[in-house]
Amino acid sequence: MSITRRDFLNGAALTIAAGLTPATQLAAQPARYPPALMGLRGQHEGSFEAAHALAREGRKFPVDGLPISETYDLVVVGGGISGLSAAWFYRRAKPSARILILDNHDDFGGHAKRNEFTLDGRRIVGYGGSQSLQSPKSLYSPVAKGLLRDLGVDVTRFETAFERGLYPSLGLSRGTFFNREMFGRDVLVTGDPGSDEDNARPNAKPLSEFVSAFPIAEASKAQIVALYSAARDPLAGVTNLDLSAEAFPYLGVREAEIAGVPARLLRAGFVGELGYEIHVPADRACALWDALMEAGSVHGIRPFGVEAQRLLRLEKGHIIIGQDTDGLTTPGEAAVDWAVKMDKPYFVGQRSLEIVQRKNPKATLVGFTLDSTNEGAVPKECHLVIRDGKIAGRVTSIAWSPALEKHVGLAFVSREIIANRGGFFIRVDDGRMVPARIAKTPFYDAAGDRQKFAA
Ligand SMILES: Cc1cc2nc3c(=O)[nH]c(=O)nc-3n(C[C@H](O)[C@H](O)[C@H](O)COP(=O)(O)OP(=O)(O)OC[C@H]3O[C@@H](n4cnc5c(N)ncnc54)[C@H](O)[C@@H]3O)c2cc1C
Repeated sequence: MSITRRDFLNGAALTIAAGLTPATQLAAQPARYPPALMGLRGQHEGSFEAAHALAREGRKFPVDGLPISETYDLVVVGGGISGLSAAWFYRRAKPSARILILDNHDDFGGHAKRNEFTLDGRRIVGYGGSQSLQSPKSLYSPVAKGLLRDLGVDVTRFETAFERGLYPSLGLSRGTFFNREMFGRDVLVTGDPGSDEDNARPNAKPLSEFVSAFPIAEASKAQIVALYSAARDPLAGVTNLDLSAEAFPYLGVREAEIAGVPARLLRAGFVGELGYEIHVPADRACALWDALMEAGSVHGIRPFGVEAQRLLRLEKGHIIIGQDTDGLTTPGEAAVDWAVKMDKPYFVGQRSLEIVQRKNPKATLVGFTLDSTNEGAVPKECHLVIRDGKIAGRVTSIAWSPALEKHVGLAFVSREIIANRGGFFIRVDDGRMVPARIAKTPFYDAAGDRQKFAA
């Protein structure tokens, strides 16, 4: 097959393998129809015959031994989102690269385009795929988000451009269909048992009401409701200790047997989630671990490591003594003087602290964030805070937060920076100055809801 004809569509060079180019077709048949004016014609004749012949008739196409008549640095097969992205990234890495994108359609986009067809004289318009970007703020990787930004896609436009009231205005809502083949009878259960607190979704229903209409056994319904709503606390299955919020509040300490092991429990919240520190004799730790993993297996329990723990605590703005402080740091400098009861009659160090407190600290530990558009080097722990060309502090913790989609950190900064409420620079390895801004901690779940028991 020789590929020779080229055209321009919306400023992009197209290579057409067979048939007329969109622009040529429009010239021949100037339809006053917007999609046609853009050159879009979807699953057009000429796009499917070869695949049908291959799949349905078992036809073979002799392609071996064809002469090479054109060369490219990259050949992409398929001009959908994936193929076009591959070409984009390749071109960005090698700006002068020659790239050939092959598709059996003359308009690119693959599934992610309009789907329109005529049935019994009626024109039906829907989407072939990709009606909207699925949660780009929370699910997309930094690379994918960077691509959207480079392409000029403003994801916030969704809020005003998408008619979210359409389905409710037509009396339509989500639902689940159970078919006769699998469930004995056809049943459509309408309603949305999502978890919005205000139940503002169309046809919102409590989960139990939604599940009660399922054509399944009562025991199975109860299991589904329990799976979604029961307290997901693996401790509940291995101890008689009352774990309710009233009996064992946040920061409480209790002694009890856990899986038959005598233990001291602290309801602490270093990572900001509902959790406990469990202290047991060292030789019983492995047995307790196994018992907890087994009890939690129905909830999908999984262990996590120190790196995750460090990130989770940073999102909560919890400091690590020895990393965010050193042997000279006072509670005032670390912004934890609230934790010291100075009105006690006496404690070791009280007098010294009183003297220190009379002076303003030179630097204070604060939370900070980097601008989300920062694409260069990221500061590291111990990099210096610079103001007016002078050292004005240091970074003690920094990490990328997938939950918040930005870099968050802790740093000692000078009084002047705090007084000016805000901006400062961090000097990174190559000498570049990365702008940062003081931010209130906790960065995540400021109300502390996640440390509370589920209702
Ligand atoms: C009904 C529907 C609704 C969807 N809704 C959403 C949504 O709301 N949000 C969302 O994010 N995603 C949605 N998706 C998924 C999304 O559309 C796809 O994941 C995405 O378009 C896939 O892109 P792709 O480039 O990987 O593949 P495709 O879009 O399938 O692209 C592959 C391309 O390769 C071409 N091709 C295949 N074989 C050959 C060949 N041998 N030679 C040359 N070309 C070939 C095809 O014609 C096609 O153009 C939906 C999908 C469907 C079907």
